[in-house]
Amino acid sequence: MQLAGAILQWRRQLQPGRTVRRFRRLLHPSERTASIFVYHRIAEPAIDPWGLAVSPGQFREQLLWLKAHADPVPLEAIVLARSPHDLPERPVAITFDDGYADVLFNALPVLEELKLPATVFLTAGYVDLPGEVWSDELAWRILLLQGDMMRLARSCGFSPPSLRASSGSSSWYAWESPADLRQWLYSALCTQLVGSSPARQNLVVEEARKWTEGDPPAAPARFLTSGEAQRLASSPWIEIGAHTVTHPALANLTPAEQSFEIAESREMLVRLTRREVRSFAFPYGKKHHFNSTSVQAVRDAGYRCSCVNYGRPVSRNTSRWMLPRYQILNWGAQRLAWEMRRWSQE
Ligand SMILES: [Zn+2]
Repeated sequence: MQLAGAILQWRRQLQPGRTVRRFRRLLHPSERTASIFVYHRIAEPAIDPWGLAVSPGQFREQLLWLKAHADPVPLEAIVLARSPHDLPERPVAITFDDGYADVLFNALPVLEELKLPATVFLTAGYVDLPGEVWSDELAWRILLLQGDMMRLARSCGFSPPSLRASSGSSSWYAWESPADLRQWLYSALCTQLVGSSPARQNLVVEEARKWTEGDPPAAPARFLTSGEAQRLASSPWIEIGAHTVTHPALANLTPAEQSFEIAESREMLVRLTRREVRSFAFPYGKKHHFNSTSVQAVRDAGYRCSCVNYGRPVSRNTSRWMLPRYQILNWGAQRLAWEMRRWSQE
């Protein structure tokens, strides 16, 4: 029994994926890997529990550093490379998910000024969306506004543990342990609503409106209009990719629903932008948010690649249907350099 426990512990420490990568680097020191970055918003929102926003100042600093110390390439270059030597020494591709309007206003000018290519994955049904999506509205309502959070929790079917109430905090990340009722409730609702129907998501937002009071933030999280999406797509530095129609967790849908989300979003974006749409990104993007049916549907719909949301280097053994990406947080250049060094040693 003791031996079995020790073996289990040893195997846990071994972390097979990381060890294999280290061995491979020892055997093939010249093997080149690429990195793909994923951003969402270039903005300074009042609240950002998912770390989706990088401030315009930090974004510029990050890109200046990348241009000086790495080799930014289009995502397509990584997908089409037949051998690592088709790529420059330190290839990095820049991508954005969802289609927030601030990508046009705060990211595109920097990309164009520094002549850096990027792929923007648009949620086709969010183009021209009049309000905010459920996760953005719930964030400021629950984490910042005044309200009866216990009543809200109960009306949504939760029995929260006894936690202290708080006056609201803007510095908590949703992947950290919740320290108060607001954080607990936001975390619980997100876990539930990621896999729920739009009807359930809307119902919870309605409940949150009922039990909270105060003004919305000065700059709501707005998505691109059709005209803005067309302006973005017309830049020679931008490739438009698809990110489904309604941003569901695909693994929860039937095969027919998955095919619709994946194929229809491509057609909608081709019609809107009059450009080819060859790249796809899975919403939420962790392993449990999609499955082999989703991957097959992406291939059947005529895409050339698809991206996920967990960070790994891209090597010649990486499937082009599950291209890993590193989420970039609101870091300065030094922290980005430090994170990139850390990733290269994993
Ligand atoms: Zn997304």
